[in-house]
Amino acid sequence: MPYTEQTVQTVRPWSDKTFSFTLSRPQDFAFASGEFVTLGLKREGKLIARAYSIVSAANEPELEFLSIHVPDGPLTSQLVHVQPGDSVWLNSKPTGSLTLDHVKSGRVLYMIATGTGLAPFMSLVRDPATFTRFDQAVLVHSVRTEPELAYRAELESRMNGRFHYVPTVTREPFPTPERGSVLFQSGALAERLGLPAVDPEHDRVMICGNPEMTREMTDALKAAGWTLTNHRGVGNFSTELAFVTHHA
Ligand SMILES: Cc1cc2nc3c(=O)[nH]c(=O)nc-3n(C[C@H](O)[C@H](O)[C@H](O)COP(=O)(O)OP(=O)(O)OC[C@H]3O[C@@H](n4cnc5c(N)ncnc54)[C@H](O)[C@@H]3O)c2cc1C
Repeated sequence: MPYTEQTVQTVRPWSDKTFSFTLSRPQDFAFASGEFVTLGLKREGKLIARAYSIVSAANEPELEFLSIHVPDGPLTSQLVHVQPGDSVWLNSKPTGSLTLDHVKSGRVLYMIATGTGLAPFMSLVRDPATFTRFDQAVLVHSVRTEPELAYRAELESRMNGRFHYVPTVTREPFPTPERGSVLFQSGALAERLGLPAVDPEHDRVMICGNPEMTREMTDALKAAGWTLTNHRGVGNFSTELAFVTHHA
């Protein structure tokens, strides 16, 4: 049985669409920062489980997650009601393609997230190892409304000469209204941060977000000469979908 019963420690709502929660961490649960795992709830003896990126860095004592609330979603319509002390079932096999080993070391690591696609990048930003592999790290988080800027205070407090956090809000007035993918591809992102013009020779990109943005940016990077990490080898950019779209 690869699932173990874990206990909810804390719950933190961010917006009407998003919330975070922490779970107890089994002693033998090992993962690399940036990975995802499957977790779920048992209802009437049946497990409803979904993939979740781990927000915590690999060395943290608890496991933290950032969740969407889909009102008619089989899991999240129920997960949104969990309270400290409740049980959540956790799979023992984390995996994923947004770890430090999924891109070559380099000059600047650009992390481009939409929505809950922020989760794996929180893990990387919290992990000091990220800053041993890269001189600089840039995280762009694009959301529709300002309350969806989860972890904003933490990310702002982590900003320093080597870490740059760029929040963008696309459906409300906000100083930066563009999506991260647009800012990155136009060159405006590097320029605004005073970083050298982006160069696949030196810089690396990780993308996590909605399927359309991820696909668009993957195509654009490939066309510009970037190499996607896959089973054939480690390239200079890597991606993960933050969710899968089900077509009725
Ligand atoms: C590799 C991977 C990692 C994931 N990591 C996370 C994570 O860290 N946090 C998280 O909340 N979800 C994450 N998801 C999505 C998650 O697995 C579930 O889809 C989500 O929890 C909703 O579950 P549900 O049963 O309520 O609805 P589902 O039936 O799974 O989804 C219903 C519909 O809701 C939409 N949707 C689902 N998830 C999201 C989302 N995160 N953002 C926007 N729209 C969404 C899609 O249109 C989907 O078709 C991840 C998915 C994958 C494949």
